[in-house]
Amino acid sequence: MNTQQRQCQLTRWQRGVRVLSLALGLLLGLSACAPTEESAAANTAGAADTKVYEWKMITTWPKNLPGLGAAPERLAERLRIMSNGRLDIKVYGAGELVGALEVFDAVSQGTAQMGHGAAYYWRGKNPAAAMFATVPFGMNAQEMNGWLRYGGGLALWRELYGKFNLVPFAAGNSGVQMAGWFNKEINSIEDLQGLKMRIPGIGGEVLSRAGGVPVVLPGGEIFTALQTGVIDATEWVGPYNDLAFSLHTAAKYYYYPGWHEPGPTLEAFVNKDAWEALPRDLQAMIEVATQAINEDMLSEFTARNNAALDTLINEHGVQLRRLPDDVIAALRASSEEVVAEIAEVDPLAKRVYDSYMAYLEDVRRYHSISEQAYMNLRESAD
Ligand code: CA
Repeated sequence: MNTQQRQCQLTRWQRGVRVLSLALGLLLGLSACAPTEESAAANTAGAADTKVYEWKMITTWPKNLPGLGAAPERLAERLRIMSNGRLDIKVYGAGELVGALEVFDAVSQGTAQMGHGAAYYWRGKNPAAAMFATVPFGMNAQEMNGWLRYGGGLALWRELYGKFNLVPFAAGNSGVQMAGWFNKEINSIEDLQGLKMRIPGIGGEVLSRAGGVPVVLPGGEIFTALQTGVIDATEWVGPYNDLAFSLHTAAKYYYYPGWHEPGPTLEAFVNKDAWEALPRDLQAMIEVATQAINEDMLSEFTARNNAALDTLINEHGVQLRRLPDDVIAALRASSEEVVAEIAEVDPLAKRVYDSYMAYLEDVRRYHSISEQAYMNLRESAD
């Protein structure tokens, strides 16, 4: 037996590592091994491993939109490479196979095997779903990732989506968003009265309690609605994605901070039957690739938002404004009311609420002396 053959007689554990190594694209030199009789026999599942899974991924985003729309494209591309073509996923933009807000049902029913969106679009299924996207005045991106991965959040998310025959994954985060685009200045809570604003999720309900009129529109319909006066204001994401939609040509005032979306998690979800039909290694690749995309999106927004904001202000004359403190205070009061009502929906919604709020309380305490203390210290140096 030569050295290469010895190296190729992988134990079960080593084969698992090899799969993950391939999945991560790390070239450890193992992929060149020719199987020995023993290793081929031990890997009888190998025959089935050549099967190609041709999947469709439908999304709530316009095809090829930078940022949000890039995530499903990159996810499919990475999975294709990692699986050596065995997981071949074609990505469809909103409206190509089904409408943007029909993605959840379509994947649940098996029209497509996979979807990419944001959990707050599915509040109608269960109001607690929105908590897996974002909660006004709640967790930021770093904290959401902590809760989902190590605070029990993901297990609850899987339990809730499992009722709809879906398996969810965190697959993107924009970081703190902007409060949005307005055609008039917001100087007091009275300026929100009757304001028709595109704002989904719990934030929309909060705006409603504060006297506004929330409208839910998918991204691809926002610009026209704002330009034609169907809505008076809109939130979307932040400078990088808002510039791509040319929202600055339809409204002049750009407000911060994004009280309603302090670090929304974007999601990928897989039809449960399709998930269970996958071999374990392809399942592991989806776990790893969604985690990578989750990080990739936050990194891209972090890197590109500043330049986009400069362009909006300096080249397009956008007026940057901070929401007044009394408006923020009113929104916060409404928000506490709306979020507390989620716990009353059903026992699972209560468990989601309790888990989120307990984690938020814990992480706030520590972040007040770590992340937040450091940010304050850094700002005070200017
Ligand atoms: Ca948004």
